[in-house]
Amino acid sequence: MTKESLLIRNALIIDPDIHPVRGNILVSGAEITEVGPNAGEGCRPDRIIDARGGIAVPGFVSAHYHSHDVLLRGSFEPLPLEGWYMVAVPPNYPKRSREEIKARAMLGALECLRGGITTIQDMATVYPFDEDHVAAMLEAYEEVGIRVVLALQVADVPGQKGVPFWEEVIPKELHNSLTASVKPIGSASSIIELLRGQLARWQGRSERVTWGLGPATPENCSTEFLEKIAALSAETHCRVFTHVYESKSMALNARRHYADFGGSLIRYMESVGLLNDRLTMAHCVWLTQDEIERVARAGTSISVNPVSNLKTKSGVAPIREMIEAGVRIALGTDNCSCSDAQNMFQSMKLFCLLTAASHGGDGPPAAADALRAATQGSAVAVGLGGKVGRIAEGFKADFSILDPYDPALQPMNDPVRQVVYSEGGRAVRHVVVHGEVVVHDGKSTRIDEVAFAEEVERLMPTLRSDLAAILQRNRIYAPYLRKAHELTLREDIGLNRFIATPL
Ligand SMILES: [Zn+2]
Repeated sequence: MTKESLLIRNALIIDPDIHPVRGNILVSGAEITEVGPNAGEGCRPDRIIDARGGIAVPGFVSAHYHSHDVLLRGSFEPLPLEGWYMVAVPPNYPKRSREEIKARAMLGALECLRGGITTIQDMATVYPFDEDHVAAMLEAYEEVGIRVVLALQVADVPGQKGVPFWEEVIPKELHNSLTASVKPIGSASSIIELLRGQLARWQGRSERVTWGLGPATPENCSTEFLEKIAALSAETHCRVFTHVYESKSMALNARRHYADFGGSLIRYMESVGLLNDRLTMAHCVWLTQDEIERVARAGTSISVNPVSNLKTKSGVAPIREMIEAGVRIALGTDNCSCSDAQNMFQSMKLFCLLTAASHGGDGPPAAADALRAATQGSAVAVGLGGKVGRIAEGFKADFSILDPYDPALQPMNDPVRQVVYSEGGRAVRHVVVHGEVVVHDGKSTRIDEVAFAEEVERLMPTLRSDLAAILQRNRIYAPYLRKAHELTLREDIGLNRFIATPL
């Protein structure tokens, strides 16, 4: 069977490290075979799209994302991370229907594609675990046509153990219903067996799906479990995704409970064999300078999530220090219930502007640094470095074409800066994944978006009523959670990641 070919004509092709090129992109099958002013000349492609001078942007890779709460977008005002756990994460909710699992995965993926995100790292919590729910997510991804690196979020230590002051401040009779980031779904050995089973069942079945391992946080995993994860990663070459120092509470917990490692989660991760170039740590807002340098030396990636860090009052990541130390930096869009949008344009813009607020002096990041993090940096972080993240010969054909007549791109003064600072997602016209046009003229080519939106609405009454019950239950916890949060903010841990006063 001959490969389908696609020619994109008359595009302005951008790359953070190369001067923009006006020309064509020739795609054969899933790959880009030629890029440049005369690319595809003389060949007779199966399909031609005239970009009309529009910008061709490498497909964004969201290096940190969770599909499990997509349907909760717009449900909350800014909340401290630990309070947000109690309303947003799956263990708070009754078991969901298969239809809801599939719809939320599909909606999140559709939003990503419509905004030029062609690959997601979905760190999905399936609680209680049900293999058929994993199948439902994979069906959704297949149907909508996105590329995904799936890692089930798992832990073997109850979440509340890792949150300072919770067990001291909250009355004992309420402890059993505390739901921090995750709930264990088994012992260390049984979870490893479950993960092996999932890898054996799914790995390699689709060219657009790869698998990773997702221990939720170091503090919600036993040392035994993390060592087993490190061994499984070494054996299977799966990348490991986890959350580190998202909030001050996580850094305070490290100071208190990891004294053998100088109060450092990074030194602890070194000791369990995880701090290497197969690891991607989300957030890292509260890293110290010494820890930043250790991460850089280890070749570990950090996925920065500026929007969710702001919404959960977690602070501003030390982005400039990471860049200057040579850390491999990626960008994520994180949960819909705390970023409200799967929008890499928002992440890129805040990546630059938050640093402008946290660091008054000259220095990075510039727009090209944000674009690099959202494409090549994130590709490395999800294990697809050298395969996606650039519009270049030999790379997978994952890219989007922007509308040249969108006001955000007029006048065209600097395409990279305007993609980062001016564009918000409105101009994304066509999106190609794995050589296939999955969004054309701003609409999915794979699904009927109107019928799907109606289906989502039909599923919502159950979720809305479950959310209402959770919000009602949480009235009892609210004063204790507030107290614990205030006590955490008052502790001196030797660094501050809030721009002004922590309170
Ligand atoms: Zn996360």
